Amino acid sequence: MSDSYRSMWADLGLDLEAHDVLLGVLGDAYGKIFLSQANRPEGMGYFDFVMSEVHGLRIKELLDEKKAGRKIIGSFCVFVPEEIALAANATLVGLCSGADFALEEVEKLLPRNTCALIKSAFGFKIGKVCPYLESADLIVGENTCDGKKKAYESLGHLVDNLYVMDLPQSKSENGRALLKAEYLRFKETVENLTGCLITPESLKQGIATVNAKRAAIHRLSALRKADPAPISGLDALLANQVFFYDNPARFTASVNTICDELEKRIDTKTGVFPSKHPRIIISGCPQAVPNWKLPMLIETAGAVIVGEESCVGERGTRNLTRDSGKTIDEMLEAIVDRYFQVDCAIFTPNRDRLEHIQEMVENYQADGVIHYGLQFCQPYLMEAIPVEKALEEKGIPCLRIETDYSMEDIGQLKTRVEAFIEQLS
Ligand code: SF4
Ligand code: SF4
Repeated sequence: MSDSYRSMWADLGLDLEAHDVLLGVLGDAYGKIFLSQANRPEGMGYFDFVMSEVHGLRIKELLDEKKAGRKIIGSFCVFVPEEIALAANATLVGLCSGADFALEEVEKLLPRNTCALIKSAFGFKIGKVCPYLESADLIVGENTCDGKKKAYESLGHLVDNLYVMDLPQSKSENGRALLKAEYLRFKETVENLTGCLITPESLKQGIATVNAKRAAIHRLSALRKADPAPISGLDALLANQVFFYDNPARFTASVNTICDELEKRIDTKTGVFPSKHPRIIISGCPQAVPNWKLPMLIETAGAVIVGEESCVGERGTRNLTRDSGKTIDEMLEAIVDRYFQVDCAIFTPNRDRLEHIQEMVENYQADGVIHYGLQFCQPYLMEAIPVEKALEEKGIPCLRIETDYSMEDIGQLKTRVEAFIEQLS
């Protein structure tokens, strides 16, 4: 990394020594997990570049945007509508929470039995190692699971720009009305932040930009139906992770470029693994950067992941926003309709998710499902049991995994994953 990046990080208030450690671990893991894969599509070179510059060039771009008058909004959840942020001249970035950091300090603020994702968000703040968090003009939390709800009360003491969005817990009429009211409040907040009033034209453009990004990811997902799989699950997950950071238009173009290449691979039956390799759907908690432990174990144990039923994956990107609206209200209604279909486990009841998992198994011709639950994540761990039961009733093998971000259980996980894959083959 160049010296100019170091002074940029110092200006953002990062702890340079701790940040060096984080980048070292990240770079090392990336090399071992991603660059060592065989038969990767050439188009993954773009994503390798993005990851090598994830704290460098992309942060510089965001800071340049800020200098030019845009605002940066950081978010932890796929319920925060990027369309509205873009329409008001703001850029939305995901705040990754995929690695443990400063755990000892974090556990002075949060109980030990808090999920790793929440602890990670705190660790990145306390450890001063996340340039996205430090660049953000507004950090959006959301009242989803109990862990997050209460954790944001504490996070509010660590940052001075936290905004909390209330979210419904059931798919009722009242629930939808709450989501609409909250999106209206978010719209006003972003407009106040940027000083730009959203117009029908700017909202239409925001919807078009995000729809294009999601459509590109849908195209990528559809190509994963092929046998042999033209792209590894790890690489497809990476594209889904970069979805949250990259410039939207450039991301869309890069995903479409890789899709062009994958179409050619499918025509020539070129795969990353041989044909008839066991095919897996991962379902459950979001896998934020750099949480690659489970996919790495699955794909080095003789299977290929063909879909992620996850917020970093199909749950987060499913459905485009209707783009026929003319007025701001019509477009907001369309945005609410689109997001209200997200089947996060915080909703009760949450039958759609069960159906979606089964649909994904069918669509991607998967041989089995690995349910990934983070330790202490009540919503997903609780849902894992009915998910497993429903799948087994349909004769679809399911393995329930409960883990965290540490490497302590890797041996045990490896044994369980290998045994499951052997059963599939
Ligand atoms: S799992 Fe639920 S709370 Fe987490 S990012 Fe997805 S929608 Fe938001
Ligand atoms: S839904 Fe689960 S994984 Fe997500 S923040 Fe809450 S407890 Fe953690």
